[in-house]
Amino acid sequence: MITTHTFNPSIDITYNVEQLQIGKVHRPFQSIKNAGGKGINVSKVLVQLGADLRAHTYLGGENGQWLERKLNELSIPSIITHIKDSTRQCIAINDGNKQTEILEKGPEVSQEEQNHYLNQLRKNNNYIDTMVISGSTPELQENSSLHHIKEILESTANSYNIVDIRASELIKILQRKLPVHCIKPNEEEFKTLVNESNLNEKKIYTLMKAHSLFEGIDVFLTLGSKGAIVKINESIYKAEIPKIEVENPVGSGDATVAGIAFGRRKFYKENQKIIRLALSCGMSNTAQKATGHINLQQIQAFANNIKVELL
Ligand code: ADP
Repeated sequence: MITTHTFNPSIDITYNVEQLQIGKVHRPFQSIKNAGGKGINVSKVLVQLGADLRAHTYLGGENGQWLERKLNELSIPSIITHIKDSTRQCIAINDGNKQTEILEKGPEVSQEEQNHYLNQLRKNNNYIDTMVISGSTPELQENSSLHHIKEILESTANSYNIVDIRASELIKILQRKLPVHCIKPNEEEFKTLVNESNLNEKKIYTLMKAHSLFEGIDVFLTLGSKGAIVKINESIYKAEIPKIEVENPVGSGDATVAGIAFGRRKFYKENQKIIRLALSCGMSNTAQKATGHINLQQIQAFANNIKVELL
């Protein structure tokens, strides 16, 4: 079973306006309201792939109720810890030229609520073979996000743990040698992890082989339209993807994470197949208007056209 974690979900609202002008009244010609949070995006894609999934999350207040209904509608099997404080909403204002985002911080989660979340997870821990932790952590009473993630990572005995969180936080997790088995940084995040501003293929290869942060873990460095450089065990691959029509790249990284989680269970040690599936999930998300949506037929076609070579 694959378990996803969304500690800080949100209602994502996008307002499409003609032209954004600070201090002026705007009447959007289109408003879109979606279930958001990186772990929820991963879960949406996993459901479409047909994964055996449990999506763990904290939900509270009226926003939480809306999200709970939405998760049901999306057929995402969810394990919800209800909280007193209210789940956040995030607003994106798009004028066709630029996107302006307002991201609320999120609720405060009490100690009791954190314990409930962990107990729910521990109930099923024998069945979990893959775990995905994505996105930010809300305010935690008497706890740090680092310790909370540590508790989650250590709650399962043998799962393959994929962690996709802010690079500055991820560094601390990797330095402590917690049970993390895979990370999926994009180019900017990778630069922060290795503290380098200029990268080329040779440098990336050397860093993946030798940097202490990456010792013993799989690294999917995704490079947008340029594909990815991937380390699985000690093998390093370069994957080039075909050019496609881009509709909306938001959430492509999350779709890639879903592809890694699903692909690893499906293909086990066939690394090239895992890479092809993961990247084609990212590509298919990019080719759809709605975040967290993929097209299974398209994935097959994309996968056949991705060039993967062992470096
Ligand atoms: P993130 O969304 O985390 O910033 P990337 O932008 O690197 O991550 O995208 C993740 C994956 O999604 C890429 O490896 C690729 O497979 C796909 N993807 C992203 N942008 C594009 C694009 N413009 N064209 C084709 N595929 C894309």
